Amino acid sequence: VNNYLKTIEQNAHLNAFNEVFGQEALQRAKDIDSRLTQGNAGKLAGMVIAIKDNICYKDHKVSASSKILSGFTSIYSATIVERLLAEDAIIIGRCNCDEFAMGGANETSYYGPVKNHADNTKVSGGSSGGSAVVVQAGMCHAAIGTDTGGSVRQPAAFCGVVGLKPTYGRVSRYGLIAYASSFDQAGPITNSVEDAALLLEVMAGADDYDSTTASNPVPAYSANLQSPEGKKKIAYLQESISSPGVDPEIKQTLITAIEKLRAEGHTVTPIAFEYLDYLVPAYYILVTAEASSNLSRFDGVHYGYRSPNTTDLMSTYKKSRSEGFGKEVKRRIMLGTFVLSAGYYDAYYAKAQKVRRLIQQKTDQILKEYDFILMPTAPEPAFNIGKEEKDPVVSYLADIFTVQASLTGVPAISLPAGNNSKGLPLGLQLLTKHFNEQELLSFSKYFV
Ligand code: GLN
Repeated sequence: VNNYLKTIEQNAHLNAFNEVFGQEALQRAKDIDSRLTQGNAGKLAGMVIAIKDNICYKDHKVSASSKILSGFTSIYSATIVERLLAEDAIIIGRCNCDEFAMGGANETSYYGPVKNHADNTKVSGGSSGGSAVVVQAGMCHAAIGTDTGGSVRQPAAFCGVVGLKPTYGRVSRYGLIAYASSFDQAGPITNSVEDAALLLEVMAGADDYDSTTASNPVPAYSANLQSPEGKKKIAYLQESISSPGVDPEIKQTLITAIEKLRAEGHTVTPIAFEYLDYLVPAYYILVTAEASSNLSRFDGVHYGYRSPNTTDLMSTYKKSRSEGFGKEVKRRIMLGTFVLSAGYYDAYYAKAQKVRRLIQQKTDQILKEYDFILMPTAPEPAFNIGKEEKDPVVSYLADIFTVQASLTGVPAISLPAGNNSKGLPLGLQLLTKHFNEQELLSFSKYFV
């Protein structure tokens, strides 16, 4: 813990932590040390973990990197936090992220952007940018992020670390600050596949407080990571190589991986995904709709920030929300409210639900035929901080490769795939069937 605290201090310029729980972490380390000598410590004893600042930890502040939650303290812990603590993890701090996890560069945070440790002029990725950088820069052992449409996987790719989004329902959402409830899923960001497996096995499983968790038994993922027997059938998206929108060095990384897999006897087949153009539009209609509903609770009365300039209840709502939410969050609340409004519900929200179902059916069909789908995690490596993006739709389109797993609920992992010619990390992504995390993790070891 002392070493990590030193590294955290040296890397303060990266802006990866919203708060460090230094003294508390040291005290906990002492307690765990003494339990270790007595031989009754949990399986994460010695593991120092950071959590994204949208995960509740009793008696600790939580902000979702938003002004509207300033001053708010959690009155209970997320189920995943309880489970990590029960196995003697040490939680060292809460990580910067995009405001309410809305973004892909950690630039919507009220607390400012997180810098990429590989090149401080580049973004960390997002929305779990802080969680990726703290692992990348060695400020802790591992971190927990949340992934609604790529927020664990994309920053992991930008930072050269491992990021796993579990199957929807594998890990409890109780105690996460909700963004889009039918998409949100917490996942580990780690240096190794082994650590991802261990953290998943501790966090996963049914939870009475989240009715969408599955009751499927949780395998001992970390104990069963030996390379899977036999040759695999892998599909890859043709467009990820043919599209002009994908960075040439990312294409080359994908081609090299495909050639290596083929040389080892696996079958790798290009496929066309007929709904590719509908992934991002369906995703953004559905998540903004869910977000507009989830974020209605921040009213200036129940939580955090209240505008000092109010005269009555209506102005408390209006002014607190106008002053408390950032630009991107407001844009999404308005978009979500619009697509749910009476006159447009069928044209947008109901239509997007139908499109989601088609995407799910087609993805399931592909994953019946193939063991994995391989694709880049993101079309580009980390870009410049402050690259003024006038059209938000351009930023949304960069989520093209991550939202398929989120719309369909299947598990996906981003794996480090070396650096480009400028020294920036690149990531490759694998998707597999629902609840097939064991095979996904075992096969991932082949890449890293
Ligand atoms: N970039 C995507 C979005 O802004 C994903 C965010 C996330 O997974 N939380 O919605």
